[in-house]
Amino acid sequence: MTLVGKRAIITGSNSGIGLGVAEALAAAGAEVILNSFTDRPEDHELAAELGARHGVAARYIPADMTRGAECRALVATAGGCDILVNNAGIQFVSPIEEFPVEKWDAILAVNLSSAFHTIAAALPGMRARGWGRIVDIASAHGLTASPYKSAYVASKHAVVGLTRAVALETAGQGITCNAVCPGYVLTPLVEAQIPEQMKVHGMDRETVIREVMLQRQPSRQFATTEQVGGTVVFLCSPAADQITGTTISVDGGWTAL
Ligand code: NAD
Repeated sequence: MTLVGKRAIITGSNSGIGLGVAEALAAAGAEVILNSFTDRPEDHELAAELGARHGVAARYIPADMTRGAECRALVATAGGCDILVNNAGIQFVSPIEEFPVEKWDAILAVNLSSAFHTIAAALPGMRARGWGRIVDIASAHGLTASPYKSAYVASKHAVVGLTRAVALETAGQGITCNAVCPGYVLTPLVEAQIPEQMKVHGMDRETVIREVMLQRQPSRQFATTEQVGGTVVFLCSPAADQITGTTISVDGGWTAL
């Protein structure tokens, strides 16, 4: 399967799942545009190194996904894209009565509104070329809820709704729009929490992962960034041409419960 000749934008991709998705798309031959809100030399070096490793063009374009104009400018600066992966996301945990308003606004902006802006900016080019793949990285929390995560759960459910609406607006035009819903994924951020959890619970690594961190994931195994990346690559393959407006869970059975 080759994505040679396709340009992919992956929002929020200087770490974690976004970087894993960029890695998988580059390995399939796509040109990749990495993004986050920072503009450090190491961000640009990360893109250059990833591109060199896979023999593809790669750039880092800073843009703050809390700002609609910057979301749209990201697409314009990239020169449009054939593959758009809306991955940037943030979380905050609090009972709803105490949930800080600014956190609610930021989560809705990054997790939901950024996808509205990037999709609106990317679609005209996709339509002109008669081919496009939009993948929204939602979450198991796009399909189920947990307490104290009101903004995150609301934003991820809304992104699934946006995915379905965009799929209907683009059906039959060579463009698909789907959401990938990961369960708990082993990102560097999650990996960093394991030693602390081991200490707090007095458990070894395997037990703390199985009994504490992955209680809701029936497989009792983390999903990996490679698996999420592979799912995105599949959605960009010809086998997925008629898959649109749906969700694919990568959650070890979480949403089957
Ligand atoms: P992460 O914190 O490693 O990555 C988030 C990325 O978004 C980073 O690159 C960060 O720089 C970027 N980002 C944050 N705010 C931004 C902003 N204002 N503008 C631009 N970029 C911004 O987290 P992750 O776990 O890799 O999460 C990636 C996506 O996957 C998120 O949408 C998250 O909700 C979703 N997800 C993660 C898990 C998990 O277990 N890790 C599970 C389900 C869904």
